[in-house]
Amino acid sequence: PKGGEICIEDLDQHAKTSYPLCMRFLHEALRSNHHLRHFGRLQYGLFLKGIGVSLQDAMRFWRDEFTKIMDVDKFEKSHAYNVRYNYGQEGRRTNYTPYSCMKIICTSVGPGEHHGCPFKHSDVQILANKLKAYGIANNYVTEISELVKGSHYQVACGKYFEATHGKLSNGIQHPNQYFEESQVALGN
Ligand code: SF4
Repeated sequence: PKGGEICIEDLDQHAKTSYPLCMRFLHEALRSNHHLRHFGRLQYGLFLKGIGVSLQDAMRFWRDEFTKIMDVDKFEKSHAYNVRYNYGQEGRRTNYTPYSCMKIICTSVGPGEHHGCPFKHSDVQILANKLKAYGIANNYVTEISELVKGSHYQVACGKYFEATHGKLSNGIQHPNQYFEESQVALGN
């Protein structure tokens, strides 16, 4: 899809069917905590820009969620700047690029943070339980766990794509590429 075709009302659905796991985890953490820490906001915010969410919609998306736990003033003072910043509307006005898998895999993730690549940064058993809870078939969960133990994170991500789409991916290099391939596979 080209810019502007992605509607923020559909993000819960996209998270289930078209997001790579790194973005699905961030989306779900945001929905349940109504908050994400700095690097999570960056990783997810730039991904959303990359899939075609406009600045106006991104602002509405973050505001609606964050104002469940803070008032609008606090959001405007502490967070609106960062949303505009991701879109190159503040600071050095750089048009920031969504992060690639390599960048995400190489990042460090502290306690209470949800960014990073789940295949790299999650405990293998916790990841396996999560995949089962998402309805991923046992044979795929086993295969993914083995790939993760061998540090083949992007290959594991490709397996997750295969398990959720019934099709092979072209090789996952970038979360936005994953999303686009998924949309094509789903006929959107
Ligand atoms: Fe995200 Fe890339 Fe990790 Fe897949 S391999 S979960 S797209 S960072």
